[in-house]
Amino acid sequence: MAIIDPPMVNKLMLVPEQNTFIGAQPGSALVIHKTASGTSAEDIANFFINDPAKASSHFIIGQDGEIVQCVHLVDGAGANCCVETGYNPYWNTLLQQFGNLNRCTISIEHCDPTSDNSTPLTAAQQASSFKLVKWLVDQYGFDITPDGHGQMADIKGHNTIDPINRARCPGNYPWSELQTYLQGGGTMGVPTGWHDDGTTLTAPNGVKVVHGFRDYVLAHNWDPANWPLAAEFSTGQLEASNASLGSGSQQVFRYAMLGWSQSRGVFFEWCGQELAYCRQQVQKYAAQISLDTSQIAQLKAELAAAQTPAVQGVDATKVADRLTAIGLLGKQVEQLAAQPIS
Ligand SMILES: [Zn+2]
Repeated sequence: MAIIDPPMVNKLMLVPEQNTFIGAQPGSALVIHKTASGTSAEDIANFFINDPAKASSHFIIGQDGEIVQCVHLVDGAGANCCVETGYNPYWNTLLQQFGNLNRCTISIEHCDPTSDNSTPLTAAQQASSFKLVKWLVDQYGFDITPDGHGQMADIKGHNTIDPINRARCPGNYPWSELQTYLQGGGTMGVPTGWHDDGTTLTAPNGVKVVHGFRDYVLAHNWDPANWPLAAEFSTGQLEASNASLGSGSQQVFRYAMLGWSQSRGVFFEWCGQELAYCRQQVQKYAAQISLDTSQIAQLKAELAAAQTPAVQGVDATKVADRLTAIGLLGKQVEQLAAQPIS
């Protein structure tokens, strides 16, 4: 079988060939890493290219989902050297066979800006990671059986090789979601009863989920009952309770709210906090409306009273009677004036 590189790689940024294990043809196991610094795959690739220690990884996935390849799959990368005390005995057979685990492993780095690798993968990063891992599993036949320690038979974290100095590599990488995704043949992410055509995810109520929100739903073991209530829309303010988020796109689901902003990409919004804030606002405005309504009633009463003119000390009925009498007298004067003088 010819060794080919994955089609979903966005950019090749190869480290010097002499930094690699040329022609090693690794493929016994896949090792997952996180960078503990940086956000961009290209920044990490530049670090590897210039690293005097010659560290490298086959792939790096940035927080924006970009996949950069630094070492061809035909060669070994420099990410998994040297087991430490307490390493997982899974590696013993491969150590005996290859000496250096870099000769038999394929490695994927994921950018995480925090030193303890505690930042969740972004939706785009997770989608890229799962797709790449799936392709490698199909290509190399890695055993994805759960290993009883939260990882898989042939897909391991760096911490299984270096449990002391790399105890937090790959930190909070979403192993169980990857397992579910792989067990479902890469389609398990489609919630039961929903339909996905590769671009558009349609919920049982007919509402569609696309782009980054679709990636997020597919990568997060989405509850099939968590339907979208309406299509996504753009908004000037993602959350009234957190104005600093600014503008973006939003899609509201029965139990959740997904947001997208230029600076954060797709993220799970705090809909409980937003709901509490909005309810508080409703109460505040309801109290204001109630106050306004009583003021309006009072003003109406004052206005009605003002429409009946009253002059102090004068009886309006008597004035009317007097006016009638004057009118009658006027009529008599008119009649008298009309009589011929004889
Ligand atoms: Zn690592």
